Amino acid sequence: GSPPEPIIFVNGDYVPQSQARISVLDHAVLYGDGVFETAVAWNGVVFELEAHLDRLFRSLAAICLDPPYTRSELAGIVLETIRRNGLENAYVKLIVTRGVNDQPLLDPTGCVPGIICFARPYLYMANPDRVRDGLRVKTAATRRPPAQVLDPHIKSLNYLNLVLAKLEARAAGADEALLLDIHGHVCEAPGYNVFAVRDGRIRTPWQDILEGITRNTVMSLARDAGIEVLAETIELYDLYTANEVFFCSTAGGLLPVVEIDGRRIGDGHPGRVFSQLRDGYQRLLATGDNGTRVDA
Ligand code: PMP
Repeated sequence: GSPPEPIIFVNGDYVPQSQARISVLDHAVLYGDGVFETAVAWNGVVFELEAHLDRLFRSLAAICLDPPYTRSELAGIVLETIRRNGLENAYVKLIVTRGVNDQPLLDPTGCVPGIICFARPYLYMANPDRVRDGLRVKTAATRRPPAQVLDPHIKSLNYLNLVLAKLEARAAGADEALLLDIHGHVCEAPGYNVFAVRDGRIRTPWQDILEGITRNTVMSLARDAGIEVLAETIELYDLYTANEVFFCSTAGGLLPVVEIDGRRIGDGHPGRVFSQLRDGYQRLLATGDNGTRVDA
């Protein structure tokens, strides 16, 4: 028969997806007002769950949103959602919405926050062929907003900036977009942080980005391997002239970039440092270090 319906946690209940409901007047729907986290589980272990919860609570604090559950309750909801869907390898998303108040207006006073958690079999953000051969990337005209506009450190539900960049890349026939800040420095990609390798040193942007959990993992894997890593201001020139460029994210792992704005990066193939770090990352996922067991 057909596979069972996914189970979704919504505002206190675990229900089949077709019965999962929030108000159409939730401020998350009206204004993108809310925050979220995306984590993955591998072999029944949620990778870096504590780091995701840390970041969620920083996002919540930054937008003055008090969640209706404690940190350990939220952790429990993530684990239980994965369990109820019978998943060993999962993509799991935890969303806190501003919720609903008396009036569907911008003022969030009196809103009662909502919680949604869903899990899917592990999703790959990019086409597997492109992951093997490397992504072709285009710099978007759409810029990442500075912290004074909407701080990119906040993992808010307002992702339109990144969606627009992605549409630009797609319209141009590229696999992915690259976003610069308003000064023209390299920031990140829609859902990914960016790394450049040159002369054996690794560099990654430090400002106006989401501080990715995979980015942190990559930096510590590199340092453990004795490779110098710098978080600093990076220009497009630094990417164009790099030996290797790669993206990374929870939902995609490490992805090689072989072309940016029509320029071949390095020899046009996934590089050696990339492969070393990707293998290290996959090993870390597989061993379950830095993770929380779903069945614990
Ligand atoms: N930047 C942005 C804008 C993102 O949405 C994501 C995905 N969460 C990332 C970077 C990568 O972060 P992480 O490694 O925590 O998934």
